[in-house]
Amino acid sequence: MAEELLASSDQLQRIKFYFDILQKTAEGYPLVTDLRTGVVLLSAHMVEEYDLPGTVITNFDRYWAPLIYSEDLDTYESGYDHIFEPGDPGEHEIEYRVRNRKGEYSWVRFHCAVGRDKSGAPVLLSGFITKMDRILHADPVTGLLNRFAFDRAVEDSVASAIAKGEMGAIMMVGLDNFHLLNEAYEKHFDDVAMREIGQSIANVLPTHLNLYKLDGNEFGLIWPHTSREEVEIIFSSIQLCLREAKEANANVFFSASAGAVFYPDSGTEPLELQKHAKAALEMAKEQGREQLLVFSQEEYRDWLRFINLQHAFEESIEKGCQGFQLFFQPQVDAITKELIGAEALLRWQEEDGQVMSPTVFIPILERTRLIIPVGRWIVERAVRTCKEWQKYRPEFQMSINVSLCQLETTDLRECVKAALEKYDLPSKYLTLELTESQQISNWQFVNEQFDYFRQMGVKVAMDDFGVGYSSLALLKFFTCDLIKIDKVFVDNILDSEFDRRLVKYTIQLCQSLGMAVCIEGVEEKEVYEYLAQNCGADVIQGFYFGRPEPERIFCERL
Ligand code: C2E
Ligand code: CA
Ligand code: CA
Repeated sequence: MAEELLASSDQLQRIKFYFDILQKTAEGYPLVTDLRTGVVLLSAHMVEEYDLPGTVITNFDRYWAPLIYSEDLDTYESGYDHIFEPGDPGEHEIEYRVRNRKGEYSWVRFHCAVGRDKSGAPVLLSGFITKMDRILHADPVTGLLNRFAFDRAVEDSVASAIAKGEMGAIMMVGLDNFHLLNEAYEKHFDDVAMREIGQSIANVLPTHLNLYKLDGNEFGLIWPHTSREEVEIIFSSIQLCLREAKEANANVFFSASAGAVFYPDSGTEPLELQKHAKAALEMAKEQGREQLLVFSQEEYRDWLRFINLQHAFEESIEKGCQGFQLFFQPQVDAITKELIGAEALLRWQEEDGQVMSPTVFIPILERTRLIIPVGRWIVERAVRTCKEWQKYRPEFQMSINVSLCQLETTDLRECVKAALEKYDLPSKYLTLELTESQQISNWQFVNEQFDYFRQMGVKVAMDDFGVGYSSLALLKFFTCDLIKIDKVFVDNILDSEFDRRLVKYTIQLCQSLGMAVCIEGVEEKEVYEYLAQNCGADVIQGFYFGRPEPERIFCERL
């Protein structure tokens, strides 16, 4: 029909002639609408870009409107309505987001003017559709405002908050398990999911707030003039809407973490603020996900330290655990005071040469699971050293600390076996001490793991007995060869009748169940003597008999 109208109208043909010349040089896409016939002339490039049916069409809006981003439809329609109002100034700009043939959104500006006849009735609409500069680009997948728009909005909001003396917030929301979806489904599916999630989150925000799509699985939010409570409430609604999305589609499970920073309280430098919001998000994820963390300078400092250490450890592991060291603390026979073995204790030497305590860095190795590769190195070193020292003392025993997460793979089994074989050390000289026993919930699993080692002939010990609340109950679940009674038990032994009895009967109980007992943290002669004379422990370990020492120094004892 459009073609017929074109053929039958001289005027239209003339317009088409000019139009075709114009489109050769235009920066944007020229567009002319004959308002009397409804014929629209489009540039070939525009037809190509947006997959439109042809360069001459009559019902343009039927094809164009569905491509417009839903939230911008109102702007688009009301923009058009203005054009035809009587007394209109004649020139217009409408900005909105529109989706191209590849499904990518971008911002466009329609700059147009209306031509009227002598009676004032609009007869021609003509103008250019221009893709706007990248600052206003929409995110191609979700249609939300993108990172560039976010950067600019942060700058504006901070400046305006300072001017008005208000407090605002920048919030970054990250999807916790979106990468799992990437792995499980095709790319197309995760674009659809991302678009839906973006939409659901946008829907729970107050209308004056924009949602921005940032890198990866992250969304941004800028909230001028707000409070901590408001930010927390919004985060709860976002969580709720994701949960509802999950109920609607059980295959797709997402949770969100978020980091927020308040300006100007925590800074006025836009890039710095964004960095801090991002760090708060990372911290929230790190601390167990599904939570909102508000940036604080102290937590940030700790986190940076954590990140730096993590990197240093990773680098060290690549270089064969350079920077790690094993110290050895003597273990003596409780009655004869004879040296029977040592506990291998890990040390980390910082760049400035300072030796860091394992109570600081072991939790980091555990959290990052780097304890698994480092544990391999510990086993290898400790077994080698034990074999070496057996030259001087043939019955020398070596104890190694093992974290729970080392049991979760078969890695430890393999490397223990390999090290014993490599250095030809009989398994009975090795003891594995399980630390963090208070945190274990699945005892059956731990027992199964340890049974494997016990069948090999390696001994198993429960470390830090007496720390936490459930130690006695643990004896019921955990089958082991040795119990190590923690220092807290012996600290007050000379002053407290209660502690004396507790230690004595605990030792008796353990021994009656077939377990040997080692008492840790013995620092004074009097304490040692009391324990030796009254309590009947098997092994003693403590500063009284020696502190943890480097290999070379310990060796002199032998
Ligand atoms: P732990 O296994 O209970 O090790 C004994 C800790 O008590 C050592 O601290 C030791 O220096 C300290 N100690 C021993 N006797 C005395 C004493 O008489 N007085 C006092 N005040 N302290 C004494 P260290 O070396 O700082 O190790 C702390 C913890 O770090 C260890 O506690 C263990 O849980 C963990 N750890 C150390 N090395 C490793 C390792 O290679 N792997 C794992 N998973 N954890 C380790
Ligand atoms: Ca230990
Ligand atoms: Ca201990």
